[in-house]
Amino acid sequence: MIIILKPEITTESPEFEKLKDYLAQFEGIQIHVAEYQGMTRKVIEVHLIGDTQKIPLEVVQSLPGVEKAIRVSSKYRQIGRHGELEPIGFDYRGLHFDQNSFHVFVGLCAVDTYENTETIFKALKENGVRTARMGAYKPRTSPYDFQGHGKECLPWLFELAGKYDIAVIAMEVLAPHHIDEIWEALEQTGHPTGVMLQIGTRNAQNFELLKAVGSQQEFPILYKRGMGLTIEESLNACEYIASEGNHNIVFCLRGVRTHLGDPHRNLVDFGHVPVIKRLTKLPVCVDPSHPIGSRVQAPDGIKDIYHVAAQGVIAGANMVLVEFHPVPEKALCDGPQALYLEELPCFLEYLERAREAYLDMRNIVARHTMQQMAPKP
Ligand code: PEP
Ligand code: MN
Repeated sequence: MIIILKPEITTESPEFEKLKDYLAQFEGIQIHVAEYQGMTRKVIEVHLIGDTQKIPLEVVQSLPGVEKAIRVSSKYRQIGRHGELEPIGFDYRGLHFDQNSFHVFVGLCAVDTYENTETIFKALKENGVRTARMGAYKPRTSPYDFQGHGKECLPWLFELAGKYDIAVIAMEVLAPHHIDEIWEALEQTGHPTGVMLQIGTRNAQNFELLKAVGSQQEFPILYKRGMGLTIEESLNACEYIASEGNHNIVFCLRGVRTHLGDPHRNLVDFGHVPVIKRLTKLPVCVDPSHPIGSRVQAPDGIKDIYHVAAQGVIAGANMVLVEFHPVPEKALCDGPQALYLEELPCFLEYLERAREAYLDMRNIVARHTMQQMAPKP
């Protein structure tokens, strides 16, 4: 059972004490409090763990300080929607992330040189983009490939981000100690930017890593669907993160591995955007770079990466994560799929139009639904 407290009630309020006293009579019930800070309000949820069947819902619902009580049958106890209030999302570094927001994270697959990084940040600033992607720790198939500069590049990377007003960088972590290294570099440089910790597809079921990112509250998480995992398995992995206390999670679709996706690198799975939004409260990101894997273009002159990015946005995605490089031919990782930096204004305008189309389409459906429901004369 999940109990949502009224907006004015906190865990210090006498009403919360009364609720706890009431629940204390039921043996074996554990209480776990989850707090969500949205743009307009804070939501405090009291999660009851144990055999809650014997607790009468109507009584709980009528207690002072309780806005709503819900019986949770679903396995996604923390991240699930449970038909409750509109998901409130989270704020980070002055930006808001929820199932209605929209952000484009642009940057290098792997940070290589200072110059390339500065060129990217400068282009982002010129185009009004404050969200970047930058890999410092790279999981590579071959041990002989470039694994990223690791913690060595973090201080100058963060300083450069601050110089160009980048609010958040999505950065993959491969091991719990990478979180500490990122924190130390931010401390050392005076927190000029923020970091969203990315869990890559190869670590989608690395439960110790999931617990490590979940048990810290500083950084939000960008969780990438496992390339060979079902939606249910990947959502359970997010539940691992949330059950450790961190609910600031964005779920990223990045394609699934099957030869049925050939000649693309992976099979595009952006049809699952509405599925994730329906099953969970999480904002949804799409990554068009990794499922396509190259800069091929259709006879209409539009690259496949653009096509599928727009498909994700039209399906209601809240975030796009995409790889660009000033000189893709020289990139040390994923060069073939990196878009040229010169095409950034085009890509952004293209996505903006797709987002507007999605919002228009949502209005069309709402208007027709209202008309269908209106009483017939
Ligand atoms: C990446 O974002 O560069 C990356 C390695 O992604 P994925 O984990 O989806 O392959
Ligand atoms: Mn990559």
